[in-house]
Amino acid sequence: MTAYMDHKNLANEVIDDARAREITDGVHRVLDRIAAAEEQAGREAGSVRLLAATKTRDIGEIMAAIDAGVRMIGENRPQEVTAKAEGLARRCAERGFSLGVAGAAPDAAAEHIPFHLIGQLQSNKIGKVLPVVDTIESVDSIDLAEKISRRAVARGITVGVLLEVNESGEESKSGCDPAHAIRIAQKIGTLDGIELQGLMTIGAHVHDETVIRRGFSHLRKTRDLILASGEPGTDRCRELSMGMTGDMELAIAEGSTIVRVGTAIFGERAFI
Ligand SMILES: *Cc1c(COP(=O)(O)O)cnc(C)c1O
Repeated sequence: MTAYMDHKNLANEVIDDARAREITDGVHRVLDRIAAAEEQAGREAGSVRLLAATKTRDIGEIMAAIDAGVRMIGENRPQEVTAKAEGLARRCAERGFSLGVAGAAPDAAAEHIPFHLIGQLQSNKIGKVLPVVDTIESVDSIDLAEKISRRAVARGITVGVLLEVNESGEESKSGCDPAHAIRIAQKIGTLDGIELQGLMTIGAHVHDETVIRRGFSHLRKTRDLILASGEPGTDRCRELSMGMTGDMELAIAEGSTIVRVGTAIFGERAFI
């Protein structure tokens, strides 16, 4: 178990007003940044969705973000998904929202808040996240996709999948080799129990904006080639999950449809 989980009760549901105000301001600032970047890029307002990256944040902090307008959340670690899922679903239901797969059924009229897994998934943790998350953004191999597929079929569900691509080539990052992304995506498209919804990447950890943009731009071209291939199961491969606190404007300029933002909403992380 990750050490910080011993220091912070992630299931805590109550935060003070000052902290709630900080988070509200953070969400509003990020939504403004997204709107400005959409306009700057000549893109339609609302074409980029905000996913709040909620690792190390507790239920109270996440609900403050939802109350301020966040409508999609993403966790990195299966243990955090497990620690927060029940409390989040209950708090969301109180507000008339359904959250993730577990919250999807009860009230068809409820607005749905998608719950994504955005961090690495070891195959022995698939069973932990499948009852909760709508989409796994961090699928980077055929092997992992096949294992998810088998578990989803056994449960009689379909789970969304994004193929994570390591566009920067940085060794510290997960994701498949960009040279193999099209072939892997086409194979994932054929698997039962899985819907290939798009591609995901983490921007290069460098200062040179042209290098960061090149990675995002290459992900978009890869997505377009996958769609144009017309191969079975690739017609829904539309999402480009790219852009974080430091590079969301660049990602939006290059066609991002989902930005994953943590620090700009919640502040610096105390752990990890
Ligand atoms: C933490 C994280 C984010 C958000 O990063 P910030 O820089 O805090 O906005 C986005 N994507 C992934 C995969 C992450 O782990």
